[in-house]
Amino acid sequence: MTAAAAVAVETAAPAVISRPTLTVDLAAVAANTRTLAAHAPASALMAVVKADGFGHGAAAVARTALAAGATRLGVTSVDEALALRAAGIDAPILSWLNPVDADFAAAVAVGIDLAVPSREHLDAVAAAANAGTARVHLHLDTGLARDGAPPAEWSQLCRAARLAEQRGLLRVDGVMGHLACADVPADPSNASGRTRFAWGVEVARATGLRPVHRHLAATAATLTDPRTHHTLVRVGAGLFGIDPSGTVRLRPAQTLTAPVVSVRRVRAGTPVGYGHTWTAPAATHLGLLPLGYADGLPRSASGPDGRAEVLVRGRRRRVVGLISMDQAVVDLGDDAVPPGEVATVFGPGDDGEPTAADWAAWAGTIEHEIVTGIGRRVARRTAPARATLRSVR
Ligand SMILES: *Cc1c(COP(=O)(O)O)cnc(C)c1O
Repeated sequence: MTAAAAVAVETAAPAVISRPTLTVDLAAVAANTRTLAAHAPASALMAVVKADGFGHGAAAVARTALAAGATRLGVTSVDEALALRAAGIDAPILSWLNPVDADFAAAVAVGIDLAVPSREHLDAVAAAANAGTARVHLHLDTGLARDGAPPAEWSQLCRAARLAEQRGLLRVDGVMGHLACADVPADPSNASGRTRFAWGVEVARATGLRPVHRHLAATAATLTDPRTHHTLVRVGAGLFGIDPSGTVRLRPAQTLTAPVVSVRRVRAGTPVGYGHTWTAPAATHLGLLPLGYADGLPRSASGPDGRAEVLVRGRRRRVVGLISMDQAVVDLGDDAVPPGEVATVFGPGDDGEPTAADWAAWAGTIEHEIVTGIGRRVARRTAPARATLRSVR
């Protein structure tokens, strides 16, 4: 199947948006993939599609990114990797965060590469070798004190991996690290992370390992620091229009819309929502949206100091009162819009609608948390890679 055909299969685009809907713009994902690849021309590109493709749909994003220049996929858990295989995707996939009792045999059986951060993981993966020779990427902690082997354990991990290699149980295909502060290129921890990674690769080689994939950079370092590119870059956020370094213009790929369910006229002094945190200062029209914090609208963006807005009929409208679990109220002023009018909660910003970055700022968080947090009862709709978002609205 061609890439274009594969994308077309994902497309189901009813013309009328009559319920809360998250539209994913695969053309944006494709364009972002090309932009990221152009920033690391000498390296291969791994598209990170963990957390259901950062909330955009893992399989559709994976196919789109692979058609636009990515050659590998990255996910967190074995389960995420198996789901991609089950969806018919046969590109190389690396899974990097699993408990020691994860189903490594199932992963190895369908050719999923596994990151190994500890001796315990190495032993567990080696034990899965009856399913085939496991391909592993040794993971060194390069400065987050989170995942990856501590430097003090690295030499031993490399030696144990080399022994397992010689026994034919696995092959060390890669060495990986991750940077804590790549969004701030001048942060000194980037230099120490790069140095520690180079040391880790040296130790692996001195042990007799020959890792062909050496990867340290995620989106921010891919866009700002060629010294981190090595043979492969792992990009997630950038595929979805998020540049943590704030240096490159990428295109957001999600648009969240919801119909106005009802509109009421209220008098000055009418309190709104739980706790009455807002009271209409003048007579106005209030529109009700069937979206709340269970759907991913952060409650912290509303309330007495809330700044959240949505776009209705070409104009920004304030969210008033507290966002509740299933609903939010917007102040429509003098506009008695008819029920059914579509509100754009966020999108790329082309028509003046807020962006996910705006919502993140209103909620005191990062865009990643907004785009990955849209709830399951919001309908999903995929705009094909060749259409623009405008043409499907
Ligand atoms: C999520 C993740 C990435 C992708 O990071 P972005 O900043 O989203 O590009 C890369 N590597 C690891 C280990 C990750 O957990």
